[in-house]
Amino acid sequence: MAEVLVHVDHVDGAVRKPTLELLTLARRLGDPVAVFLGAGADTAAPVLAEYGAVRVLTADAPEFADYLVVPKVDALQAAVSLVSPAAVLVPSSAEGKEIAARLAVRLGSGIITDAVDVTAGDEGPVATQSAFAASFTTRSRVTRGTPVITVKPNSAAPEAAPAAGTVEPLAVTFGALATGTRVTARTARESTGRPELTEAAIVVSGGRGLNGAENFPLIEALADSLGAAVGASRAAVDAGWYPHSAQVGQTGKTVSPQLYIAVGISGAIQHRAGMQTSKTIVAVNKDEEAPIFELVDFGVVGDLFEVVPALTEEIKAR
Ligand code: FAD
Repeated sequence: MAEVLVHVDHVDGAVRKPTLELLTLARRLGDPVAVFLGAGADTAAPVLAEYGAVRVLTADAPEFADYLVVPKVDALQAAVSLVSPAAVLVPSSAEGKEIAARLAVRLGSGIITDAVDVTAGDEGPVATQSAFAASFTTRSRVTRGTPVITVKPNSAAPEAAPAAGTVEPLAVTFGALATGTRVTARTARESTGRPELTEAAIVVSGGRGLNGAENFPLIEALADSLGAAVGASRAAVDAGWYPHSAQVGQTGKTVSPQLYIAVGISGAIQHRAGMQTSKTIVAVNKDEEAPIFELVDFGVVGDLFEVVPALTEEIKAR
């Protein structure tokens, strides 16, 4: 059976959920081979095996420790030479897309970015992309060389399928570009203590209805009562009320949590594009005609400044 390379996204060996989704999708195309770069392979390997990796190729070097993409491209290129895979799957993060694009150039093949599904086709892997806020769906395949496909987070539910996960060292020779860049300073982002937006089981998002940055603590309090991540509509982000990293939608992040609560958000098509696959959708909006209500499982027509604090108190009391 053909093998499929999966680039592992991790933090010090803790495998991030998008990688488990890629392993699940890779199994449709062949036997997943995980490529783990950096420190922490001992922690990661059992998890990768649990989600179907037949082999785990590992390489560790100081070059992998930082946000430097070229060393990772060198490593993936070495893995492609070793395995001759049917495809290379990479998470659709900013870093992942840069790695994938550079790899496709090196391989002289083609790249498909931001796929939301990958299936096996008669002539090779077929990637599905969603265009114009999910108004159109395209299916494409790479016609030359090894397909490199980046897949959006939350495109598949991770399913365990234990495999051997044999750990094998990967020999990597770094090119001049890999060693020509170094990190000179680091600024740590202040942690909110909340889960990562794209990985959270519950997301509470606020929109223009909040009327100002000073009211976002209402959203944060509700989120904290549920152990949720905080999201925002573009209107709220553009107004400077919340950081862009929290934007949900076509030009923000795609989330697919078990529960999505939209507060003071009208439900424009560009917002829906980032949250419509959530399992259960709840909206609080004072306008009963708001388009978000076409999408919801539960809707509350009411003033968010009354509903949200009451809801938070109720949840906290349980
Ligand atoms: P509004 O549409 O103004 O809705 C505010 C809602 O709050 C209303 O429904 C109102 O009834 C309700 N409300 C007001 N006061 C209260 C109250 N006291 N209690 C309860 N409800 C109240 N948008 C995104 O979100 N994400 C994207 O990634 C994105 N990408 C875009 C890309 C492009 C190319 C374009 C053109 C647009 C994009 N947009 C995106 C913008 C999108 O079209 C909408 O403008 C935006 O989503 C509106 O945000 P909103 O729902 O917060 O604001």
